[in-house]
Amino acid sequence: MSDVFIELKNIEKHFSGVRALDGVSLTLRKGEIHCLAGENGSGKSTIIKVMSGIYTPDAGEIFIDGEPISQLTPIMAIRKGIQVIYQDFSLFGNLTVAENLTMNVSLRENRKLVNWRRSRELARQVLERLNVDIDLDAEVSSLPTSGKQLVAIARALLSDARLIIMDEPTTALTSKEVETLFRIVKDIQARGITVLFVSHKMREMLEISEHITILRNGKKVAEGEAKDFDEFAIIRHMTGQDVHFE
Ligand code: ADP
Ligand code: MG
Repeated sequence: MSDVFIELKNIEKHFSGVRALDGVSLTLRKGEIHCLAGENGSGKSTIIKVMSGIYTPDAGEIFIDGEPISQLTPIMAIRKGIQVIYQDFSLFGNLTVAENLTMNVSLRENRKLVNWRRSRELARQVLERLNVDIDLDAEVSSLPTSGKQLVAIARALLSDARLIIMDEPTTALTSKEVETLFRIVKDIQARGITVLFVSHKMREMLEISEHITILRNGKKVAEGEAKDFDEFAIIRHMTGQDVHFE
């Protein structure tokens, strides 16, 4: 059996003259932490939307578990285990942590009625496994950004994610919170789940990822093992310019 979860081949996506993705290929292996890097406007969010079925590419192919997918829809992407943690987390602020986590359990089990006690127990277990101190009865809007992010991650895990995509997840975090996030990302990986970590911060990429893909102007300009990159190489690829630091 192949160790590849999803493969994108020569993906094109154009918006009225802008080549947001210009023939991008990307392979994500099972259980790897893969960093997708690039400056603003390089095409990172567009590729996330292609992988989660929100955008249909103008050309190119998508394979999941080695099978060609002729048209990936958002529902199909969720069924295949693709979960995106957006920068706004898409949570229900006026509901509690437990309610936010529970909604997906009933979706997953295809039930119209929520089995409240069982769902709550699953929600409690997932937070316990993440080893974070979050009150199941707190209203989500009352949590700090890092807490909301953890709820979004817990929700993805409760939906049987096989790939968790995080779009610029450290933007609003303190360095302590980043440490917690990285611990959780490694725990997610230890469960065999793939993580696509989208970022433009060089140090973070080098610290967390095993594999790095760099986009510039909608094209893939570099790809390889994280150990073969340093900060200068990443900046050079992201900007297309030589850099010199004192
Ligand atoms: P990144 O996430 O790396 O900042 P994006 O994928 O958001 O980059 O954008 C890539 C390019 O495509 C940019 O030039 C952006 O302006 C353009 N773009 C993205 N989405 C749209 C859209 N819905 N309509 C028009 N242009 C878009
Ligand atoms: Mg973006």
